[in-house]
Amino acid sequence: MTQSQKDEIDFTALPKIELHAHLSGSISRQCLHEIWLKKKAEGKTDLEDPLVVMPEGKHDYDLKTFFPLFSTYTYRLIDDAWSLRYSTLSVLRDFAADGVVYLELRTTPREMPAAGLDKEDYVRLVLDTISQYEAAEPPASGPGMMHTRLILSVDRRNTLPEAQHVLSLAEKFHSPDDRNVNVVALDLCGDPSAPDIYKFAPVLDSRAPRRRLIPTLKTTLHFAEAECSSSDAELSTLLSWQPDRIGHVIHISQTIREAIVARGGGTDEKRPYGLELCLSCNVHAGMISGGFEEHHFGEWWQEKDCVVVICTDDVGVFGSKLSNEYALVAHHFGLGRAEICALARRGIDVIFAGEDEKARLREIMWT
Ligand SMILES: [Zn+2]
Repeated sequence: MTQSQKDEIDFTALPKIELHAHLSGSISRQCLHEIWLKKKAEGKTDLEDPLVVMPEGKHDYDLKTFFPLFSTYTYRLIDDAWSLRYSTLSVLRDFAADGVVYLELRTTPREMPAAGLDKEDYVRLVLDTISQYEAAEPPASGPGMMHTRLILSVDRRNTLPEAQHVLSLAEKFHSPDDRNVNVVALDLCGDPSAPDIYKFAPVLDSRAPRRRLIPTLKTTLHFAEAECSSSDAELSTLLSWQPDRIGHVIHISQTIREAIVARGGGTDEKRPYGLELCLSCNVHAGMISGGFEEHHFGEWWQEKDCVVVICTDDVGVFGSKLSNEYALVAHHFGLGRAEICALARRGIDVIFAGEDEKARLREIMWT
């Protein structure tokens, strides 16, 4: 056997952790099509077939076309309890089939007035679907069951009262002992061109009075996703909220880079700091200049005070499964088998679930 054959990795079989996946953006086009077929047959939708709106193979959505896709299409199709359950189950099955053993799924609570569902119903439905999936669908083979936790997102376009409501839902569905499927964190996401994020401090700053009451509820933030949301002033404010992890981390100055590294190696709480990096999304959406080789993964993955976790962001839109993201990293940055396994395992240190789950992952993830 040659060295290269020994180094060959089955990226699907590799047990993986996914920490940055949006529920709606992770729905496959086939699943959207199935939902559309049923609604069309029942006379419940006048939307066009998703396979026409988003043809298979089209992945070049950018920040201008990406967000309208959801407001004008996906949210109008997934607008009742049945379609929410169906699409959530489909997303869970897709991640599990790709070898994901631990998933943190994020979603912005949405009301579905035509179906009589408020935002609390929405979150309960998603959590119930995850619980039922874990109870009913043990894996036939492979490294083990995929366990899932939920992150609730505040949209940058939200008002402060709307963001406070998201926090209320997180408080309600968070379980400090992490015994059950539960809400583990808050996120800040959405159109980066929406300004005035400073108003969210009472909700997203971990030092805010309400947040201090539940220290086990974590925070992750979309960070420096676009140039318009990447001034040193904005990024310094976001870091001052002491998020537990940050996502994307694209347009940063040297000052901000040093501040991020200091978060990981800082003296007050010395621990590696989690960066959720999404390669295909950044490349396909033109969020970075250049191709995969130019992605800032190359600058960060060996930074000892940070933990880089490879994530998909919106696999339904950008079409690259997590296994493929690992294959891309191996190919473009020359990581061998040992480095890929180490990269996947390091993510355990920055998941938001408790010690029991971390211990389970240390058992089943490859060394
Ligand atoms: Zn995202």
